[in-house]
Amino acid sequence: MKKNNTHTRRDFILQNSLLGAGTLLFPGGISSIWAGSISSSPSPALLGGQPALSSPSWPAWPIWKPETDEKHLLEVMRSGVWSRNKVVDLFEQRWAEICGAKRCLAVVNGTNALNASLAQLEIGWGDEVLVTPYTFIASVSSIMFNGAIPVFVDVDPETFLMDPDKIEARITPRTRAIMPVHILGLPCDMERIMAIAKKHNLLVVEDACQAWLAEINHQKVGTFGNAGCFSFQNSKNMAIGEGGAIISNDDQFMDRCYSFHNYGNPYGSAAGEVGAGTVMVGTKLRITEYQAAIGLAQLARLEEQTQTRGVNAAYLADQIKDIPGISPYRLHKNATRAAFHLFPFRYQQEAFKGLSREAFIKALQAEGVPCLSGYSELNKMPFLKNAFKSRLFRKFYSSEQLDYERYAHENQCPMNEQLCNREAVWISQNVLLGSKNDMDNIALAIRKIYDNADQIKKVNE
Ligand SMILES: *Cc1c(COP(=O)(O)O)cnc(C)c1O
Repeated sequence: MKKNNTHTRRDFILQNSLLGAGTLLFPGGISSIWAGSISSSPSPALLGGQPALSSPSWPAWPIWKPETDEKHLLEVMRSGVWSRNKVVDLFEQRWAEICGAKRCLAVVNGTNALNASLAQLEIGWGDEVLVTPYTFIASVSSIMFNGAIPVFVDVDPETFLMDPDKIEARITPRTRAIMPVHILGLPCDMERIMAIAKKHNLLVVEDACQAWLAEINHQKVGTFGNAGCFSFQNSKNMAIGEGGAIISNDDQFMDRCYSFHNYGNPYGSAAGEVGAGTVMVGTKLRITEYQAAIGLAQLARLEEQTQTRGVNAAYLADQIKDIPGISPYRLHKNATRAAFHLFPFRYQQEAFKGLSREAFIKALQAEGVPCLSGYSELNKMPFLKNAFKSRLFRKFYSSEQLDYERYAHENQCPMNEQLCNREAVWISQNVLLGSKNDMDNIALAIRKIYDNADQIKKVNE
């Protein structure tokens, strides 16, 4: 990777001091790194200073390397075999192997991987599915798309994940499944969740759409539940443009998924009498051969990239964890690997002299760090109320069940609200493919903002 050579001597001294001693000598006198009244940091970029990340080394996303990636893709294009065939088969085989799953089915996207999995587990009308509010819309819409009602389990703000301690209180006689979402690439405590599912006889569909290769106790996420769903959309760590996958060890379930994704045509055990024709109501979710060829090219890099992201994330977390008001993600004890689709931390504005999260993010972006505040509160969005008012929901559920006021009250998630509205900050995943020096400079950027929070607040008001 390209080396960043643009540091001033002052930056250099500062950074090295950040790695070691807590105080350092400046020409002007002695100053603590962040607690002193004399500012020890260079000026923040938002106030006209030099950005901390003036020439970062991380790659743009997605990565495409013509020299290694195009040969196979061109072969596919020139063959004229573009509909699902041997390359899709190979991609499925490889993804199943990498995950340690018996079977894999490639589908058009992660959203439809979830839709299909729930449908083929017969989770739908009349059922409730436990899900985290801290997720992408598709987790929740897949539940309602199948006619079931999402029941939100609040998060543990330290892990950003569904809080296992809060699951059992949300179980009712109508609960049919749990959907753990390994959001941001951080693995849910699947050992706990599977034990709860077993005790209450619930199905488990893992939304691993941000968690390629993440692990609990050396077992890949997506392989704990009845089904695991992945996304290969362009922004994702495994980028195909569009694409998704379902993995499972259950042959009959996977045969049904295959049939469903291919108009309901017979496949394996999902077959009736020979020659009888279509066996189930299906749809079409097949990916193309050229998408699979792109996927195979991306797969070749995934392991190494995941390692790099993991090392950089741990290092960056360590560099920023002692800055007051900054709390990096916490992994569950049994997590042996996270995928880091994003690098998340929590921001407490009280520790930054009341500087709002919005202003903090603006200042961090000015330093050259791609970051954002992340999800807003899903459990309060209008799609829920509108679905409750729809003809089909009114047909299948009692008016008591569709009492939105009551539902909203029961589904309050104060910890999620804290993350969404006040604390969460995300750094983009490709940043974690940068150098250690980049990570040092991100830490420096945050310290600069900390030291100058007062002044940044003034120019932002
Ligand atoms: C991206 C994503 C999805 C949906 O995947 P698509 O391929 O975009 O349809 C579902 N759940 C989560 C958590 C995601 O991040």
